Amino acid sequence: MSFNLFGSVGDSIQLLPDHIANQIAAGEVIQRPASAVKELLENAVDAGATEIRLIVGEAGKSLIQVVDNGKGMSAADARLCFERHATSKIRDINDLFHIHTMGFRGEALASVAAVSQVELKTRRADDEVGTYIEVENSQVVKQEPSAWQSGTSIAMKNLFFNVPARRNFLKSNAAEMRHVIDEFMRVAMAFPQLFFSLVHNGQELFHLERGSLKQRIVQLLGNHYNAKMVPVQEKTDYLNIQGFIGKPETAKKTRGDQYFFVNNRFIRSGYLQHAVMQAFRDLIPADSFPLFVLFIDLDPTQIDVNVHPTKQEIKFEDEKIVYAFVQAAVKHALAQFSIMPTLEFDLDAGIQQLDAVSKPFTEQQQTAARHSGLYQGFTEKHQAHFIPRDSNSGAGADNGAGGDSQLNTVNWQQWALPEEDVSKAVFEWEQPAKKWNLLSPAVYQQYEGRYIIAPLITGFLLVQQQLAHERVLYEKYAAAFSGRPVATQQSLFPVTINLSPADAVLLEEIRPDMVPLGYAIEPFGNNSFVVQGTPADLLQGNEKATIEQLLDQVKHFSSDIKFSRREKLLRTLSQQHAIKAGTSLTQTEMQQLVEDLLACQTPNLTVTGKPTFIEFTQDYLSRLFEGR
Ligand code: ADP
Ligand code: MG
Repeated sequence: MSFNLFGSVGDSIQLLPDHIANQIAAGEVIQRPASAVKELLENAVDAGATEIRLIVGEAGKSLIQVVDNGKGMSAADARLCFERHATSKIRDINDLFHIHTMGFRGEALASVAAVSQVELKTRRADDEVGTYIEVENSQVVKQEPSAWQSGTSIAMKNLFFNVPARRNFLKSNAAEMRHVIDEFMRVAMAFPQLFFSLVHNGQELFHLERGSLKQRIVQLLGNHYNAKMVPVQEKTDYLNIQGFIGKPETAKKTRGDQYFFVNNRFIRSGYLQHAVMQAFRDLIPADSFPLFVLFIDLDPTQIDVNVHPTKQEIKFEDEKIVYAFVQAAVKHALAQFSIMPTLEFDLDAGIQQLDAVSKPFTEQQQTAARHSGLYQGFTEKHQAHFIPRDSNSGAGADNGAGGDSQLNTVNWQQWALPEEDVSKAVFEWEQPAKKWNLLSPAVYQQYEGRYIIAPLITGFLLVQQQLAHERVLYEKYAAAFSGRPVATQQSLFPVTINLSPADAVLLEEIRPDMVPLGYAIEPFGNNSFVVQGTPADLLQGNEKATIEQLLDQVKHFSSDIKFSRREKLLRTLSQQHAIKAGTSLTQTEMQQLVEDLLACQTPNLTVTGKPTFIEFTQDYLSRLFEGR
């Protein structure tokens, strides 16, 4: 090791060349096509465009182009905009706290230029000619005057062409396109006064004429919400809330249709989502999700959008107050439209008090606000304070298995059995195709509506019914793809389901894989589908909920990358259709389930690795009790 200041053979630190530094930095801003889509759309909005067209090829992997009719750029700006920290939106650090535009970091185009081949065409309305620029590896490789309508077109080709490792991380086109559509919908939702279109591989998926927010919601999320929405509108000196919530009967089993915007910026917030859910409490079943599209506007000095590179998380100066106001506004809307009896709470008075909470928000006023009846009413125990800040209720952590932690609480763990013995109890028989000597005839016992005790000739099995059924269904569904399709039962009363355009695209994609699984679903135009048939052994009647939930789970399946779409479908359906813990079973049902389970190729575990049963052999029992 040498400490020579001027560098010598032993030195190892180097300054990275610019284009590599840019590529690394780009990773923060652009993880996938959808992130680039978001940045380009936001730039078009910031440029004052009234018409914004997004054109995508191969889910954005080959092309992402945004064409706008905004104010355009001068030739010099067109060249400059690809430099890191090139922005026209802030000039000094103080501006950071007064942001009224979507962008401000000046990182997006620099990142775009670092990881794709870019073609920019732009012209300001007053300029005679426009500018054409090509950029590759952060270098301008071509610049010439060009005839072009006024406005800007930025086309990024071959995303990550120069960062193969990133490119390999991209998911299937279907998955990436879903993210692109999500981002597109968020921007389009926030600006109903602008025209948007989205064309993918030459096909127009969205064509959104300018209109009211209500019209935009229906355009984006589907006609079934029309006449089923209630406006939310509260103005106070501190913040304004406006938007729509769905009437309770439109609540879905899936979390999809929920949007928060703060100063027109889409944000994720499990915390604020909880505020809305609390307002809906008792009006909808616990496991269902109401539509909401809510815009919260407040003084930019009261928020910090600079906490996250993609600006999707923001920090409120006073989060609890925002929580209380959101909840109050939603309750108020529900009450006003007689969805909830007004008597239950007298909110009008409460809401009026919000005026006391005025700008500028001094310490004193904050204290006053905290002592207001309204605020206190909404921040009691089990409410605001008690939600961990990172409670990301959107994570969909439990994929519906429900039985998750149950095994951990079973008493056998408390028998002070050495660790290794316990795992042996579960796994020791792991040889292939063990012969199970079920006692027959025998009496099966169900314990707590959850476990089945199945007698063996020597010993017994303790089976967790939901997890066991999940395994049985998984293997059955997997077999459906190798020539043993699940029988379909024709629906007597075919159900029509209306989906949002995004969900319709998704269902269209998974539809072929659903046929062998017993589903007959036909497109019916305009994002609707008719369910003609369902798996024969499934009770009919809640096809709509099943399919919505299915779409949601396929969308949110946690370990996306590892699994094919078909695998995700198999896992989701087997979890979804498994009999739930708490269902009481007859002798025949218990016996059938255990026999089916033991006939599986891997009977002892679910696909996610949870044990489905534990064997208690006579030997093992006597070892436990008599120490032999
Ligand atoms: P930021 O949006 O944070 O300023 P970007 O890298 O996204 O940074 O853009 C850099 C600059 O390029 C912007 O500040 C703006 O001046 C200009 N620009 C980008 N896109 C457009 C567009 N579509 N129309 C006009 N100007 C644009
Ligand atoms: Mg920008």
